[in-house]
Amino acid sequence: MAKDNIPLEHCFSVSDFKNSERCFFNFLVTHYLRQRYEFEEGSFNQTIGTILDLVIKKVHASKAYGEPLNYLLEMYFKAAEKDIRQEVEEKGVKSFYGSTIKFLNADSLAKARQVSENYYLKRGGKFNRSVFFKRFWECLLEGERLFKLWGGPDALEMGDDGVVEVVDYKYFENAQKGKDNLDMDLMPKIYILLCAAQLVEMGYDKTRFRVRFWTDPLDESIYEEFDMFSLNNLKQYLRFKIEKILSVKEFSFCEQSFCKVCNSGQRRDWIKQLQTQFKFR
Ligand SMILES: [Zn+2]
Repeated sequence: MAKDNIPLEHCFSVSDFKNSERCFFNFLVTHYLRQRYEFEEGSFNQTIGTILDLVIKKVHASKAYGEPLNYLLEMYFKAAEKDIRQEVEEKGVKSFYGSTIKFLNADSLAKARQVSENYYLKRGGKFNRSVFFKRFWECLLEGERLFKLWGGPDALEMGDDGVVEVVDYKYFENAQKGKDNLDMDLMPKIYILLCAAQLVEMGYDKTRFRVRFWTDPLDESIYEEFDMFSLNNLKQYLRFKIEKILSVKEFSFCEQSFCKVCNSGQRRDWIKQLQTQFKFR
């Protein structure tokens, strides 16, 4: 149970929805049995993305806009690296940055520096200002059963036209390929709902979900706008989606060779656990 008495199985992040579509058994093991970080292998590119996302958070937290490039490259990268190492030291390798740390080295840091340098130069050093920062967000979905969405976008920024933007920064080595595979269905809805109460409290009646690309700094084309006063439909849509996922009680396996969960030696044990604890069959 979470602190608010909502069972953890009723709490969904963007990746829970994605997992449930890709491999239902994988979802059951990560979501119900809480083996969330056991299978994260990490990669060089994922580590670059993680470093860059932390750097943008540092830029916003210090509000040091308009600083010279060297400042960005020196101060923020050191701070980002320190954060990752510290958190793994405190929480162990089975934690959020557990798979990042394996690839955190001179090569990935150099590549991330190079990407952010290019981003900075192409945008003339311009970062849109942060309007609010919080790392973990939640949104309750009320209905017959109470559900919770959780997670967090990289930033809440003031858009050029005065519309506040919920922004997710993405690192794709190949920007076009990344854009082609981008989820612009669930991700925008969930991130907007997570931030909605805060945005309404701050007096915004309209907002925009935007994706910014580290490797395509000037692309302003990927976004969706939302009216803050018509979010009930979104909530209902996600509530139905969760109800539907929770109603499936049969096992199904993707059986792909790359699926760490389907191919695990613990498969039988997990099936047994899911059968006894959660009545799957
Ligand atoms: Zn699988």
